[in-house]
Amino acid sequence: MRLFVNALSLCLLGSSGTSFASKCETVVIAGSPEIGPMAYNTKEIVIPASCKTFSITVENKNPAAMTKAAMGHNLVVVEAAKKQDVESKSIAAGLGSDYLAKGSGYVAASKLLGPGEKDTVKLEVAQLKDKALKFFCTFPGHSGIMIGDIKIDPKS
Ligand code: ZN
Repeated sequence: MRLFVNALSLCLLGSSGTSFASKCETVVIAGSPEIGPMAYNTKEIVIPASCKTFSITVENKNPAAMTKAAMGHNLVVVEAAKKQDVESKSIAAGLGSDYLAKGSGYVAASKLLGPGEKDTVKLEVAQLKDKALKFFCTFPGHSGIMIGDIKIDPKS
């Protein structure tokens, strides 16, 4: 499935004549009937070092019955050492703040997404070099499963 989608997007980009866009952006699914309600479809995002900015579009594809309040998802990028602090402060901020504590030290964050919603996180790649980065979901109880690594590939 994943390969099919990637091949399709390459075709679409090929027809528009821009390969730049495909290299510096990715889509992460956060919950779907295929991968389960509380999961990302990947455990790793690789960012080519040659990208100036890198966009991560996160999509919640859960059925409508799984409301944002019950099973919302976001994608928060942090330095690994700050993950615990960002998570505990964000959970304490509560659903009314979309489980995100401003100023808690994260690098970037999407909105908290209900079913059918998506949002895009933009990263300035030059600021990420030599940092150990993770992405995770701050919704209470999710980060044990909804977590992955972000790597900068210096060769691409
Ligand atoms: Zn989540």
